[in-house]
Amino acid sequence: MDALLEGAIPQRRVLLAAPRGFCAGVDRAVNTVEKALEQYGAPVYVRRQIVHNTYVVRTLQLKGAVFVDELSEVPEGSIVVLSAHGVAPAVHGEAKDRRLATIDATCPLVTKVHREAVRFAEDSYDILLIGHQGHEEVLGTLGQAPERTHLVDGPGDVLDVQVRDENRVAWLSQTTLSAEETAATVERLRERFPALVGPPSDDICYATQNRQEAVKKIAPRCDLLIVVGSSNSSNSVRLVEVALDYRARAAHLVDSAEGIDEAWLQDVFTVGVTSGASVPDVLVDAVLSWLATRGFADVEIVRSAVETQLFALPRELARSRDELLEPDQSNEC
Ligand code: SF4
Repeated sequence: MDALLEGAIPQRRVLLAAPRGFCAGVDRAVNTVEKALEQYGAPVYVRRQIVHNTYVVRTLQLKGAVFVDELSEVPEGSIVVLSAHGVAPAVHGEAKDRRLATIDATCPLVTKVHREAVRFAEDSYDILLIGHQGHEEVLGTLGQAPERTHLVDGPGDVLDVQVRDENRVAWLSQTTLSAEETAATVERLRERFPALVGPPSDDICYATQNRQEAVKKIAPRCDLLIVVGSSNSSNSVRLVEVALDYRARAAHLVDSAEGIDEAWLQDVFTVGVTSGASVPDVLVDAVLSWLATRGFADVEIVRSAVETQLFALPRELARSRDELLEPDQSNEC
């Protein structure tokens, strides 16, 4: 019996993490662009990538969405959707000046962080925003109270922070960070500023946390963990880091099945699969098919949480094009 077991070839299998893929904020943002196209007709302009996923952006382009980097590229009087990552108030001001009809698809959980920033600034706090330099969500949050907010891009930045009053310092964070890394930065900040206060509840959103927990559960069992997501998707990049931290033998980020390298499968028997919060199921299904044709047809779903969160569509979608262009109504969020 033992001899048989010793000679047995380990079974190839896939551990499919759940939850994975679209979160409520991404679902809302993508539906917002689709509904705007249905309701007002093409073109509908979208400032920046509506969500950080190449496939989603390409699919919406085919339906008539036009993606721009700046509002200056949008003709006056047009409809423009603001992305899920949120924007600084200055962007709303620019839209108003250019007579643009905005539909704000900012995720409500990002809006919550914006409100916290405004409240702390009104109470004369200096805000230490933990996040990644240049990320769109960070730019939007920094813009809520630009004179009072300092970016802290990890524990290494803590010593350089300059505040006006060490007794009035608050921290906030980007919603898509790794929970552990953020906790480490907060700890360093608290060592430096013992009076540091934080948001009433963690800013890292439920979807980011759930996808990271799901990866933690499968990573120790994986010879290889494939994360489907685009390289500019913060939460997807974090999933690769979490997989490696939790002892997956290897972990890679791919935009789609075409990005997988056959060589990664050498000496691999258990492959983990997950996807970032901006990734549609169709891309994960293609990865599973790719694996199945290479002997990895046995798929075990490993679920660590059930998600029921849903967000209502932006109320601007209830208005006609003319109503959207009314100056008094175009700046609500
Ligand atoms: Fe909102 Fe979180 Fe999704 Fe970002 S990842 S859109 S914060 S739910």
